[in-house]
Amino acid sequence: MSDTLYCYCCRTHHPKEQMRRFATRTGERWRCLRSIEAARARPDERDAFGRRQSELNRQTAVRVAERMIAPNLKYCLP
Ligand SMILES: [Zn+2]
Repeated sequence: MSDTLYCYCCRTHHPKEQMRRFATRTGERWRCLRSIEAARARPDERDAFGRRQSELNRQTAVRVAERMIAPNLKYCLP
């Protein structure tokens, strides 16, 4: 087991080559590259990006709908 290190993130042992020292509030721990990469692309950040994109898409859709509906509005008004 000398070629593995304990990964505090996965709570398991990984091969040494996949491990990097990682500074935490309580000191340095070993973390595997996979968990560091996963943390870099945190789901909440991806969601925030997705929400911004959907809001933009929604606004575009509203503008397109307004352009399509507006010309007909005058026929509906008394
Ligand atoms: Zn790990």
